[in-house]
Amino acid sequence: MSKVAFHTLGCKVNHYETEAIWQLFKEDGYERTDFDHQSDVYVINTCTVTNSGDKKSRQVIRRAVRKNPDAVICVTGCYAQTSPSEIMAIPGVDIVVGTQDRQKLLGLIEEYKKERQPINAVRNIMKNRVYEELDVPYFTDRTRASLKIQEGCNNFCTFCIIPWARGLMRSRDPEQVVKQAQQLVDAGYKEIVLTGIHTGGYGQDLKDYNLAMLLRDLETKVKGLKRLRISSIEASQITDEVMDVLRDSKIIVNHLHIPIQAGSDTVLKRMRRKYTMEFFGERLTKLKEVLPDLAITSDVIVGFPGETEEEFMETYNFIREYEFAELHVFPFSKRTGTPAARMEDQVDETVKNERVHRLLSLNDQLAKQYASRFEQDVLEVIPEEIVKAGEPHEGMLLGHTANYMKVAFEGTPDMIGQIVKVKVTKAGYPISSGQFVRVMDDEPVEL
Ligand code: SF4
Repeated sequence: MSKVAFHTLGCKVNHYETEAIWQLFKEDGYERTDFDHQSDVYVINTCTVTNSGDKKSRQVIRRAVRKNPDAVICVTGCYAQTSPSEIMAIPGVDIVVGTQDRQKLLGLIEEYKKERQPINAVRNIMKNRVYEELDVPYFTDRTRASLKIQEGCNNFCTFCIIPWARGLMRSRDPEQVVKQAQQLVDAGYKEIVLTGIHTGGYGQDLKDYNLAMLLRDLETKVKGLKRLRISSIEASQITDEVMDVLRDSKIIVNHLHIPIQAGSDTVLKRMRRKYTMEFFGERLTKLKEVLPDLAITSDVIVGFPGETEEEFMETYNFIREYEFAELHVFPFSKRTGTPAARMEDQVDETVKNERVHRLLSLNDQLAKQYASRFEQDVLEVIPEEIVKAGEPHEGMLLGHTANYMKVAFEGTPDMIGQIVKVKVTKAGYPISSGQFVRVMDDEPVEL
């Protein structure tokens, strides 16, 4: 039996797609092996979101070539899509496929075995208007299931290379989404995370169908689904209709990740983000009225070109005022090929780091404040892992609540992947401590 080994760099979407590519190999009779073992085929699923994503991808490709110079080395993903010739120039690379045509990979391997000539199969992604349908009925290593619902992005923010790697917005056929969700529930997953490149943009390219309708369909048509999470949604995509669905749903979690990137209109304009802070604030106020306990998490870029102390403080004050439950703080890093990398007024590294630290301590404060609201409450946790030796809460089960708090508690390994009621005994950040109450069977879940 031929063997295949995978290495995935980058985001959740890439991890999802590696699972999809594995399904294709599995159906063809391949056996999966570890990337550090001898294999007949190596597939490296690359990332290009930052310049260091490119560098790491090249290192991993070289590692595979060294491991078995006779193996077929296939490179796919975002870096493969944007820079195929850079990858073809690495000695030992045999096949390059971008972010489309993954079904062709097995055929290309056969072709390579006959001809022994390197194949660059990357095609222009900007011309693609169709979602590439790939099956992911389960995940190899994970207790959490993601479900990709769309591809690409039409926004072209000035710091981001992703539309060039993924192409324009393409939504997945709603019937396929429902079918895949049912398969995942049948495989035992309690929670599904809807993912994509610009997830909340789902439906923009569809006629008479939108994200709110998809959420409703998933709730009514998928039998046994307990928790539904949207990985990320822009403020402009939280329409009144989406808010109604969130309010009425019994399975959509009370957590939204809404990327803000900056809290200053002038910075947002330079980023080419399509909202003002007035609009963003209005959406958050309305959300908090509809769902008072909602956890709102966000991404922030610090030190975008030209960011003044005043502009940074606008961001800082907005985040403090609206009490975000958790922030992912990124110092701006120049991504070659984007307009922002060419902008003048790049912010000095020391200034950037100092602002990152200020925002991280605000994050710590806000996250603890949010978690403390739930101290002594009984919440539902899906344990994902046992905490490793040497780490805080060693040996305990660790998982997320519906509102995305991480909780550690004493339990048994068979609880992993189940919904477990846990009393929060000590709120903290990044991890709160809890006490096991009971395992939920098939009773309705509280959110
Ligand atoms: S919305 Fe902006 S940051 Fe997000 S993928 Fe699209 S271009 Fe990139």
